[in-house]
Amino acid sequence: MNQPDKTLELDAQAFRQVVEQALERVLEHLDSLPEQPSVTQGGADLARSLVEPLPERGAPFPELLSLLFERLIPHSFNTAGPGYMAYIPGGGLPHVAVADLISDVVNRYVGVWATAPGLVQLETNVVRWFCDIVGYPKQALGILTSGGSLANFSAIVAARRQHLPSNFFKGTLYASDQTHNSVQKSALAAGFPPENVRQISSDRAYPLCLDALKRQINLDRAAGYEPFMVVGNAGTTNTGAVDDLEALAALAGRERMWFHVDAAYGGFFVLTAHGKEVMAGIEQADSITLDPHKGLFLPYGTGALLVRDRLVLQRAYSVHADYLPEMQQDPDFVDFCEMSPELSRGFRGLRVWLPFKLHGIGPFRRNLEEKLALTRWATEQLRRIEGVEIVAEPRLSIVAFRLRKPGLDDEALNALNRALIRRINERNRVFLTGTLLGDRFVVRLCILSFRTHKERVEQGIEDIKASVAALMSSKQPAEVG
Ligand SMILES: *Cc1c(COP(=O)(O)O)cnc(C)c1O
Repeated sequence: MNQPDKTLELDAQAFRQVVEQALERVLEHLDSLPEQPSVTQGGADLARSLVEPLPERGAPFPELLSLLFERLIPHSFNTAGPGYMAYIPGGGLPHVAVADLISDVVNRYVGVWATAPGLVQLETNVVRWFCDIVGYPKQALGILTSGGSLANFSAIVAARRQHLPSNFFKGTLYASDQTHNSVQKSALAAGFPPENVRQISSDRAYPLCLDALKRQINLDRAAGYEPFMVVGNAGTTNTGAVDDLEALAALAGRERMWFHVDAAYGGFFVLTAHGKEVMAGIEQADSITLDPHKGLFLPYGTGALLVRDRLVLQRAYSVHADYLPEMQQDPDFVDFCEMSPELSRGFRGLRVWLPFKLHGIGPFRRNLEEKLALTRWATEQLRRIEGVEIVAEPRLSIVAFRLRKPGLDDEALNALNRALIRRINERNRVFLTGTLLGDRFVVRLCILSFRTHKERVEQGIEDIKASVAALMSSKQPAEVG
């Protein structure tokens, strides 16, 4: 036998060295975060220049770090910085990097209870805490997923298994036209024909229109379909609109349908008094999607699905295998693989457990309250800018607005607002994106990062004011390019 190759078993000194070298770069990066440009666009040439064959030999670690921190990381949207108010901001609590370091190194297995009962209990606690946050009863539980999309997918499969026969092609599900595309995508992945996802029109302030929903359900029943699921929004991605969750819960109950709430963006605002009021009724849902990598400021990679009755999720996903350890039967405990499409996966629980235990829930609640207040403040500033119209008042921490200029038709107005976003972003202190509400292109301001505070929002308002002024004084009807 040849000598075994032990290169991959870093000894203590080598491991310490790579961690320290990486940490050095990471700290420098964090330090400069507020000064980094809010966005660097493009990058096809950069991407192409990186294509390379499978490496036969190793390269020095500092060289690889330089590639990452000097060439690749700077060329991106600064999603972790305070100026990121585009889409739905992520976060990047640094604690989670430490949690990941620990769980990756110990590499314990948390899909099955017997393999690490204490660690599985930590993750169970995290899911239970989420259930308490939304006001779920004792028999509720759920799973941590890679994100909101997979949580929505897991919910649709659970609802399908609970309400429909094996041949489920007559099953129809309902969601407003403001619903995140992951619901449509998940329904497809769960096997439904695309047309079985009914898009219900939304009211002017963008919650789902209940009358339209009732009409469609009746039409579908009359045509021989089996309406089985309603998806409500607790914070749409477009405007943060919240559907009437109590009314939807009542309707789903009467119609014997599964009621799912997609609270990927808005859910953790129930930690605040305002959010609790706005999302009243969320606790009546059969299932809820939350996204800790949005509202809890975690780095990307952690979503959650909560179900009102854990047994329903277990019935949906439990499939026996001879080669797995025995699943435990104690109702106090859980084998997560029995409630989830996943078997092997990382220890996501520690990513939430560590920051919660280190700080308690207080700082999370106060950060969310701050984001709500900042959005209200920004809205009042925007309202005072001549030519700016608030298109969707903030329910949570998103405000949608647009610039109006006399004499322009809809198309020209849309072009004007696209030009406005370009100008704002060029100043590189904040990064904003837009969306379409009906035919109207609007600019969105979404404040959710734990690093975004008053000072940066003020800078954003300054940049919006300056960009609006430039466009309003420009002779061209809609400056393009
Ligand atoms: C972000 C989002 C999703 C998708 O979640 P991912 O974590 O990106 O997979 C689903 N629904 C809503 C309302 C969202 O904002």
